[in-house]
Amino acid sequence: MAENINLHIAVVGGGPGGYAAAFLAADLGMKVTLIDPEVNPGGVCLYRGCIPSKALLHVAKLIEESEQAKAWGVEFGAPQVDVAKLRGWKESVVKRLTGGLGQLSKQRKVQYIQGKAGFDSSAKLRITKADGSQESLTFERILLATGSRPAVIPSLKLNSPRMLDSTGALDLQDIPKTLLVVGGGYIGLELGSVYAALGTRVTVVEMLPGLLPGADRDLVLPLHKRLEKMFDGILLNTTVKSVKEESNGIRATFEGAGVKEREKVFDKVLVSVGRKPNSEIPGLDKTRVRVNPKGFIQVNKQLQTDDPAIFAIGDVVGEPMLAHKAMHEGRTAVEAMAGRKVAFEPHAIPAVVFTDPEVAWAGLTETQAKEVGREISVAKFPWGASGRAITLDRPEGMTKLILDPKTERILGVGMVGAGAGELIAEGVLAIEMAALAGDLELTIHPHPTLSETVMNAAEVFFGTSTDVYRPKRA
Ligand code: NAD
Repeated sequence: MAENINLHIAVVGGGPGGYAAAFLAADLGMKVTLIDPEVNPGGVCLYRGCIPSKALLHVAKLIEESEQAKAWGVEFGAPQVDVAKLRGWKESVVKRLTGGLGQLSKQRKVQYIQGKAGFDSSAKLRITKADGSQESLTFERILLATGSRPAVIPSLKLNSPRMLDSTGALDLQDIPKTLLVVGGGYIGLELGSVYAALGTRVTVVEMLPGLLPGADRDLVLPLHKRLEKMFDGILLNTTVKSVKEESNGIRATFEGAGVKEREKVFDKVLVSVGRKPNSEIPGLDKTRVRVNPKGFIQVNKQLQTDDPAIFAIGDVVGEPMLAHKAMHEGRTAVEAMAGRKVAFEPHAIPAVVFTDPEVAWAGLTETQAKEVGREISVAKFPWGASGRAITLDRPEGMTKLILDPKTERILGVGMVGAGAGELIAEGVLAIEMAALAGDLELTIHPHPTLSETVMNAAEVFFGTSTDVYRPKRA
């Protein structure tokens, strides 16, 4: 089939999904207009999400390690945090990356418009620019990559600078003495860890029985144990019923079976209870695009909406709301527009929680297997038996494989431990390449590294690990 690259396309939203799609489209030879309210591409991920949070988490890890170093005979003294300088460094990281994307955009001759787009019709966008002026432009294809925003709980809506969402928390205006984090998911635990390392007394409230509800419990346990030491409190099965501003802070009332203290005052409150898709695009009703009751735009495997000229990718089309998912969807959508026979159907989309230890998983989880009644084998290698983990004084980690007991195929990989977020990539590759346990077992991994734990877990599956001892059954 001939490729259809002589298209003029618009990409609405310049986050990782949107800019990756726009750049690929330009590389394929399409005429591309990229529209975003910020001065450069980057979206939530670069401006107020993944990137600034990881810059701060790096500092948090350094502070925590310097504390741990006492046990190794090295003392640095108490950290002196210059908040303005730290904020400046974080902002310089953001500026460097978003500026770089601005340059890449120019080099590719992508027409970048700083503004917001709405629909006049399926093919026509009305763009309100940063200076307030409006322009209507017609396109052959439109790609929606409008992302998501923090979910708001009506009872916790309070117009106060003490109430933060992830954006406010990343602004790092100050280091509050106390912080209440509502929601023990990705954002709550990552940003809670940052503030705790900087000296804030953090309390996390999670309405479900465990932190990171989507992850396997054995992976969360080592993180939970470490956070128990870092945080003032972790309240599970608990919700925040109300918040009220007082002269010295926010008074929060708690509800839940095990709640001992019914109310408490905090300097600041971070609400991190999930995200909502940005599908309320002006004029969307003038198109045939369909939005489901949860607010996600409906798409097929080519990321095409019910309106054939309109595609959508990323957070606005559904879970998991992760940048790397959006980027790959973006590629698929652009290739589909170009007439290539493609579909977005990955076997594994890795999830990484960048706490310390990091928690990462990909493919089938043990929890999911149980839910659908699928028979699996699980092989776990404890990092207490890893030379590298011991040299790092981080033996609490674990690598586990979820396997098909008959074919020995790797269906899922889970990890917890320092650097698990980097190591999970091997697991993703194993799943995508339909690797068998034997492939991982026979692959020579460098010693001494944490990556060996993937090979070691395969050895555990076969009962051939020499690093752990399992008495033979009589
Ligand atoms: P989340 O879904 O990860 O966690 C929200 C948590 O809040 C859940 O555990 C939920 O049970 C709890 N909750 C919901 N309502 C509550 C209530 N009323 N009281 C107490 N707890 C409540 O959402 P998030 O942390 O806001 O992050 C949003 C999304 O952003 C994530 O799902 C993820 O897709 C993305 N994200 C990813 C990363 C990463 O990849 N490392 C980091 C940050 C955010």
